[in-house]
Amino acid sequence: MVYDFHTHTTFSDGVNIPIELIRFAVANGYKGIGITDHASYSTIDFIIENVKKDCELANKFWDISAIAGIELTNIPAESIKDMARYAKSEGANLIIVHGQSIVEEVEENTNWEAVNCPYVDILAHPGLLTKREAEAAAKNGVFIEISARQGHNLGNGNTVKVGREAGVKFLINSDAHSHEDLLTEELQKKVGMGAGLSKQEIEEVYTNFTALMEKIKSRT
Ligand SMILES: [Zn+2]
Ligand SMILES: [Zn+2]
Repeated sequence: MVYDFHTHTTFSDGVNIPIELIRFAVANGYKGIGITDHASYSTIDFIIENVKKDCELANKFWDISAIAGIELTNIPAESIKDMARYAKSEGANLIIVHGQSIVEEVEENTNWEAVNCPYVDILAHPGLLTKREAEAAAKNGVFIEISARQGHNLGNGNTVKVGREAGVKFLINSDAHSHEDLLTEELQKKVGMGAGLSKQEIEEVYTNFTALMEKIKSRT
């Protein structure tokens, strides 16, 4: 059983159209997938309107919950709150923010703005996450991502160490840009172990996934 709330398609820089990616996800044992293409004001409407169609198709015929979301990437940190609110109002049902990764830096304060925004669900690959940011994420219920993606995963060790002390809720996502990057349950657990999570903490990741899925479904 796999949940994965961070993936990309041809609607940004991924290689599969949404229904293709979802089909591969079903084959890998996914129960839930979030399609979260990179977006800003220029593309939010277009992405959501179209990705939704394939999510609805998959949800109707296959045993998977596919969610049309977006990843706010490289936008001005101060605009996160307004843009996340706008994305939700346009029908995005999962909002993640591209965190300050070691390999792909975004504007300073991005992590801070994301963990303090009531419309943000997940801070993705937050790199050198700080104690202050982690404590705000724990307090505000923003999930913190452990990344399976090469490069972004360089920050996983710090993310787990700082996040654990603050009591954040972790997720393990693929950040897939191709069906070849999708996870299996075995790989997802190994990514967690490699990041330093205990067996019990990995179980908690699945509880967190289900909790977020419930939250998403309750607002549709
Ligand atoms: Zn990308
Ligand atoms: Zn991404």
